[in-house]
Amino acid sequence: MIDLRSDTVTQPTAAMRKAMAAAVVGDDVYGDDPTVNHLEQMAAEMFGFEEALFTTSGTQANLLALMSHCNRGDEYICGQQAHNYKYEAGGAAVLGSIQPQPIANLADGTLPLNDVTAAIKPDDFHFARTKLISLENTIGGKVLPQQYLAEAQQLAFSKGLKIHLDGARVANAAVAQNIGISEIMQFFDSATVCLSKGLCAPVGSLLLGDEHFIHRARRWRKMLGGGMRQAGILAAAGELALTQQVARLADDHANARILAEGLSELTELNVDLSLVQTNMVFAELDSQINPLMLASQLGECGVRISAGKSLRLVTHNDISTADIHTTIAAFKQCLAH
Ligand SMILES: *Cc1c(COP(=O)(O)O)cnc(C)c1O
Repeated sequence: MIDLRSDTVTQPTAAMRKAMAAAVVGDDVYGDDPTVNHLEQMAAEMFGFEEALFTTSGTQANLLALMSHCNRGDEYICGQQAHNYKYEAGGAAVLGSIQPQPIANLADGTLPLNDVTAAIKPDDFHFARTKLISLENTIGGKVLPQQYLAEAQQLAFSKGLKIHLDGARVANAAVAQNIGISEIMQFFDSATVCLSKGLCAPVGSLLLGDEHFIHRARRWRKMLGGGMRQAGILAAAGELALTQQVARLADDHANARILAEGLSELTELNVDLSLVQTNMVFAELDSQINPLMLASQLGECGVRISAGKSLRLVTHNDISTADIHTTIAAFKQCLAH
């Protein structure tokens, strides 16, 4: 199956399975797992932070960040489309008693900084206390401009707020701009990165920040059931995600471009090529086409997608350029009848 549903479907690489089998492990809740400790130290150094924390998922890493920056009755400003607002089951509100203040994202994924400024609440007991701005990069496959990040950081600083990066796919953003991940993260007080998406690790994310922040996050992680024991088995794969899988993302971006250009030639699909910046292609289906039927027909041709009026197709390590050509041909065939 050519599975374009997400880059989370990637299999661990052969090198990862080997490293996992050979990993030296200990009880990480005691701080005794050398492989976890090594991954956290390496990531902190690579990304320019004091410390890092290995987490079970990106959702957990974001929740830890929100709970470590904000107290009960505080709020964070984020996008309407932000993963940590829309796709994390309301965890910040449910578990952190933290109020989100969403702002409409522009088409390029940014939050207009005037709108952010207008949403910051004065110190008045009628209001929640605004504590944090949270951005996401990439967002919907789009890269936030470096200049925008610098301006957002400046705004946060001038208003006495912290600024967090949901960098689940920050490695894609870095590769797309031909810069280091740390050049993106330099604008943030904290950041997350998913090891288990395009970077192919089976499980895990990292949270980055200063020593006091990570100290608070570690306590929340334990409370939320994220204290793992011989987690070096997972961290061993996570290390290779950072050292062996980042540069390779350029192939996924090139494949997404080929896919987008191929699909844009089909009259039944509307593809905005300007939004194809990393490993995601979005295609709007003509209203006569039944998305469930299309998904089922593609399935018979060996192409797996999530059915919807707007299709999101994601390239990754287990999709070759030949698979992309097969996919374009399958779309042509399925849309022809
Ligand atoms: C996938 C994703 C997450 C959450 O990661 P999980 O590991 O699936 O919990 C957070 N933020 C963004 C932007 C994501 O794409």
